[in-house]
Amino acid sequence: MRWNEQKLQTEHVGALPGLARLNNLVRSVQTPEFAGITFHEILAKSALNHVPGQSALPFGYTINPYRGCSHACTYCFARPTHQYLDLDAGKDFDSEIIVKVNVAEVLRKELAKPTWGRHPVALGTNTDPYQRAEGRYRLMPGIIAALADSKTPISILTKGTLLRRDLDLLVEASARVPVDLAMSIAIYDEGLPDAGLPDDGLRAGLQQSVEPGTPTTKARLATVTAVRERGLDCGIFLMPILPFLTDTRAHLDEALRQAKAAGATSVLYSGLNLKPAVKDWYLQWLARDHPELVGRYRELYAGGQYAPKEYRTWLAARIGPLIRAHGLERGVVDLSTGGLRSSALPASPERMPPPATRKPPHFAPTAAAASDLAQLAVGSAVGSPVNTARPSLIAAELPPKWAPTLF
Ligand code: SF4
Repeated sequence: MRWNEQKLQTEHVGALPGLARLNNLVRSVQTPEFAGITFHEILAKSALNHVPGQSALPFGYTINPYRGCSHACTYCFARPTHQYLDLDAGKDFDSEIIVKVNVAEVLRKELAKPTWGRHPVALGTNTDPYQRAEGRYRLMPGIIAALADSKTPISILTKGTLLRRDLDLLVEASARVPVDLAMSIAIYDEGLPDAGLPDDGLRAGLQQSVEPGTPTTKARLATVTAVRERGLDCGIFLMPILPFLTDTRAHLDEALRQAKAAGATSVLYSGLNLKPAVKDWYLQWLARDHPELVGRYRELYAGGQYAPKEYRTWLAARIGPLIRAHGLERGVVDLSTGGLRSSALPASPERMPPPATRKPPHFAPTAAAASDLAQLAVGSAVGSPVNTARPSLIAAELPPKWAPTLF
């Protein structure tokens, strides 16, 4: 069904100055099925994005059938891209969605060029290809078919359970080209035992609060299982890990337990990055839901978009042993696209060294902290969470020596 078959719709061609400047806007559509969202249908001139290679990195290719994302994750790093269209990086990113309605046709032409090198192509590295609109526009089946027909390896990262709709196509494609799939699942606040997280409502509804337009964690984990049942690997992007909210050992242990139980074949993680426009939006959410944390975030991200190296090293030391304890292989990110590294490419562990080979933190943990880590390394078996009896925020779990410099 196309949009013009909807009973109620409005059209505002050229309604927004930035979009009008695109000069390939077909129309803008609103429908009761997607209350509060406007879809701007455009005729794309190209489908493949060439991601310039940084030194020592191979270049990559991505496809973004949509710009903006109704999954509306408050921490989404792609938000600033909307500002190029005179749209804001906050609510507009969630509700003004650009749809490249001809993306599959354009892609097929690009792939047919004799110069096309059949490089792996990543989807979901900027905005989500299986966001809700995909249920109506059905752009992905054409994209998958075009890639498979041209013998082009496919990598997809999504939070959308709509991926299940295309599993037949993806299984079929995997017989012809490498197909690498990953679900992005950052928050596992369902089924977490009370012990180990603050008893102040901090975890209650966290996932739906910080990612209001996404399917639930449970539904995404079920999608991982569905992929695995079809014989395909499926990684999980456990990212971003949110300081003071989801970086407790209890949460990470539970996340990995659920990932393993769902059949995930690998896990990748990273901490939270906050580009300037993203930081504003995220801190607005934080001020509404967790005002007590705003000051600590401002301090943690005072130096820019990244948390300090000390925090990142600390996080690696915390989650690395847990990943190993749960028997989950650490996945490899494609640093040129930010997505799952295609299995068509040789593994490059030197670009993503396992935690054990990383430089140790430049500060020395206290004896108590070292003992804590050692206990974690030997005492955390799959399905046997480490001691989570102390309900506290992560700052309270940090060894006292670390806390003042980090927070
Ligand atoms: S699903 Fe991905 S692209 Fe969409 S809002 Fe969330 S982080 Fe951004």
